Amino acid sequence: MFRGRRMDEPSNWNEAMDAHRNDDSVTREIRCFELARRLIFHEVRTQTIRKLTGFSRNRLATLRRRLKVSDDARRHGPPPRSLDVLLRTARGRTEAAAVAALFPIFKHPVSIQRTSALDDGEQTCDIYDAYLAYYPQSNVRFEELMLLRRTLAKGDLLELGLCRICKGLIMNIRIDRCRPICAHCNSLRESEQDSAFLDEKTTSLS
Ligand SMILES: [Zn+2]
Repeated sequence: MFRGRRMDEPSNWNEAMDAHRNDDSVTREIRCFELARRLIFHEVRTQTIRKLTGFSRNRLATLRRRLKVSDDARRHGPPPRSLDVLLRTARGRTEAAAVAALFPIFKHPVSIQRTSALDDGEQTCDIYDAYLAYYPQSNVRFEELMLLRRTLAKGDLLELGLCRICKGLIMNIRIDRCRPICAHCNSLRESEQDSAFLDEKTTSLS
């Protein structure tokens, strides 16, 4: 098996391993750079981009300058810790369900057991881009999407349900006993209420 082995093989092998490691680190660097670039354009907080890419604050500031993105074009303050703002409206609950319906499509292959922050960041960004391509006027922010994924994965607070009128997909809060309706049915109901109010007013004036 070792017959004919050349004296320089071990060093060749080491060089190959070094090249492989360097290649891995170069690949990772390129992935981090690309994710940071995408998140900067999505106006994501520096704190969140640092967590996902490991880039320093200075490095992100330099990248922002190179991309000619103003320092004001990003969210400030701590990332959201609650989905209350998103889920308190019928539109938010409907959007949350629509975006959550994309999660299984972007799921990692089963063979990948452990995922890194970079993997999660890239996957969430892919979902976010796909959702915005479908619904560009969305008010859902990238960090809300991250929180939504984590909350749904835990499974104790939210669940996908059906609108009680049209049976369309909607995001339900588990402890909320009343069955909410989707944004579409809600807007229909509001316009019906408005026309009923106008009818009432016209009748009382005549
Ligand atoms: Zn509905």
